[in-house]
Amino acid sequence: MLTRVAEGVLVHESMFVQSNAVVVRGPDGVLLVDPGVTGAELGCLVDDLAELGQTVVAGFSTHPHWDHVLWDARFGDVPRYGTARCAAAIREELSDAGAKDRIADHLLETEIAGQVPLDLLGLVAGLPAGATVIPWDGPRVRIIEHQAHAPGHAALLIEDRGVLIAGDMVSDVLIPMFEFDEAADPIGDYLTALTLLEDVADDAHVVIPGHGSVGGPGQARARIDRDRAYVLALRDGRVPDDPRIGPAAKPGWEWVGDVHEGQFRRFAR
Ligand SMILES: [Zn+2]
Repeated sequence: MLTRVAEGVLVHESMFVQSNAVVVRGPDGVLLVDPGVTGAELGCLVDDLAELGQTVVAGFSTHPHWDHVLWDARFGDVPRYGTARCAAAIREELSDAGAKDRIADHLLETEIAGQVPLDLLGLVAGLPAGATVIPWDGPRVRIIEHQAHAPGHAALLIEDRGVLIAGDMVSDVLIPMFEFDEAADPIGDYLTALTLLEDVADDAHVVIPGHGSVGGPGQARARIDRDRAYVLALRDGRVPDDPRIGPAAKPGWEWVGDVHEGQFRRFAR
């Protein structure tokens, strides 16, 4: 089901970790950001777009994690963009013949084992390094690239709609999750990224996280502040006072506390 969150901007929320696929309408078709997760959900999105009489003219992946680089052939053979670093990261991962098997194995631990189509995973074309907008004929979409959470991670600001598509940050259910493998300074990368998002927070009347609830006016800044408080607590070895972990966590999201414990121990070392 597609839900309108701003003029010409619709969201499809997955059953899996509240993943958000975003549809942006242009004059000749839609831009599809992080299309979704299970085959059934991708099929639902195909049907919803057909019902609206819309075709997909381009895709965009906010970052190179498996749940953000999926695709369904029925969306069409159109350009699927990401930042240059995002595309390079997924290309490198897929250059290992066992990569998709490893993702499938990881999915065995989830409730969507065997339900995710991996055939077209990761076929992302990198935009030129430093690209600041998505090349398409719809509303201007600014790319805000940073290295928090994943290499070549991009938030998108749909400027004249006041919509911030945040990728895997500023979630109301997930804490900041750090990139440990590639980053020399995961905390510093995260704080830098939050500053970049803060620069556009006043323009973002709607914020769409990669996972979690869509936020309205004021939420972009509030969520940036909450993420920053979490990151600073970990940096300083303090236990964060954060509603996303501990007894206040939403039912079904207790595992986020386990992620936190792992990160806390890692930084404490
Ligand atoms: Zn991610």
